[in-house]
Amino acid sequence: MPHPTDGSCIFCKIVAGQIPCFKLLEDDKTIAFMDINPVNPGHALAVAKGHWPTVDVIPADVIAAVAQTAQKVAKAVVSELKPNGVNLIQANGAGAGQSVPHLHIHIMPRQAGDAVSLNWQPKPGDMKEIEAIFKKLKAAL
Ligand code: AMP
Ligand code: ZN
Repeated sequence: MPHPTDGSCIFCKIVAGQIPCFKLLEDDKTIAFMDINPVNPGHALAVAKGHWPTVDVIPADVIAAVAQTAQKVAKAVVSELKPNGVNLIQANGAGAGQSVPHLHIHIMPRQAGDAVSLNWQPKPGDMKEIEAIFKKLKAAL
């Protein structure tokens, strides 16, 4: 089955070879390439070939393939760049910081003190509120 595409999407253009990228990997469902605005050296992206914007609409087998590609890239980042850590980050929707509405996982090498801002300070939650939301989600699963 052909992948869905969106002619105005930058990642669809990369998948189609219409604009260049530093391609790390490619298989039938995914592609991985370097992010051109790296948050740290080695920042890369594992991207679905088809144009599905977010986690709630992408087929399960495709997001699984994207995760496997992200793992391969992360292993290379760990062995070759030896960062202090690596975040795999996947944003859904502008409110979550998604700027390209075509599903991708960031492979983000981290260095101690790099001040990348997705870090948050954990603080104890309200158990009643956690339980109420838990019940709602559980009922939908
Ligand atoms: P997000 O904000 O999670 O949607 O991430 C989109 C990422 O795509 C950003 O980190 C951008 O730097 C990156 N990006 C945008 N255009 C390109 C491009 N042409 N080649 C490589 N990375 C890109
Ligand atoms: Zn696209």
